[in-house]
Amino acid sequence: MKALVLEKKLELNLRDIDLPNKVGLNDVKIKMHTVGICGSDIHYYEHGKIGQWNVNAPMVLGHEGSGTIIEVGADEKNLKVGDRVCIEPQIVSKTTKEYKLGIYNYDQEVKFWATPPIHGCLTPEVIFPSDMVYKLPDNLSYSEGAMVEPLAVGMQGVTKAKIKPGQIGLVMGCGPIGLVTALAALAGGCAKVYIADILSEKLKMCDYYPDLIPVDLSKENLETKIMNETKGWGVDRFFECSGAVKAYEAIFTCCSPGAHVVLIGNNAEPVPMNWAVLFAKGLEFQTVHRYSHQYEPSIRLLERGKINVKPMITHTFKFEESVEAFIRAAEHRPTDVKLQIKIDE
Ligand SMILES: [Zn+2]
Repeated sequence: MKALVLEKKLELNLRDIDLPNKVGLNDVKIKMHTVGICGSDIHYYEHGKIGQWNVNAPMVLGHEGSGTIIEVGADEKNLKVGDRVCIEPQIVSKTTKEYKLGIYNYDQEVKFWATPPIHGCLTPEVIFPSDMVYKLPDNLSYSEGAMVEPLAVGMQGVTKAKIKPGQIGLVMGCGPIGLVTALAALAGGCAKVYIADILSEKLKMCDYYPDLIPVDLSKENLETKIMNETKGWGVDRFFECSGAVKAYEAIFTCCSPGAHVVLIGNNAEPVPMNWAVLFAKGLEFQTVHRYSHQYEPSIRLLERGKINVKPMITHTFKFEESVEAFIRAAEHRPTDVKLQIKIDE
């Protein structure tokens, strides 16, 4: 089957490759419609690795997918042919302790799409366990369906933040994950959310969202702004979504006493921590690695219009243009938020 294959660092081909074609008893076969390009896909393309994961053999990219069911396994009772769905791209073992504890995202053996050596979904048809496949409501498009995956990351962070109604949030980084985290924080009860970035152009997205308050770090002092606007108290909930070491400094200058800090933008470098402030303010820390149990709530919020991801989809490519799409994505244009590829026109 034809697929977008990352042969090795900086070498992509749209070519035929052998992929599984047997539908198991509890599987469904999905005709892929839309696949979003994730920061991790671009990172594998540019660097051939992320942390412990190395691309040692050709790998199909893509893990943010939606499509239509075209075949169901003999034991499948819930989904049927013709259902429009999105796919949570991880295959988990039901026997692990992590699964039993509801934290299956920490299972080291999890098979996650487009994480070596597991093939992703930038291909016309995929087969997947039905329990990780979710029906899309009629009012959601395939493009929105493909946004559930990144949204689930923000939802995981916001769930861990234990927001109380009316609180003030601060998100560092106005990329796709920063935006979905900020929108999830609003849906989760924040009255307003500041979102900070060093690139002014990225903050233009806030024009679509009145409760997101942009902070342009190239022009404004974050601490001064936050402290002025919160009467010296600081923000109640802090989300690091930039992956930049420098962004961590804001934890110590902008958080209120008792604030919850959620680290989402993974950073491979050691980060200096001002432990004295952490102790004095009683800050609580949480980390996010992918997500568990976030697809259903994410879909519900999209369905009810409580989160709108449509403005974030800034460009769509055809399947035949997949290589060009990645070359474009690797340009990291600040005005490109989410690029998607439509496999099925
Ligand atoms: Zn992703």
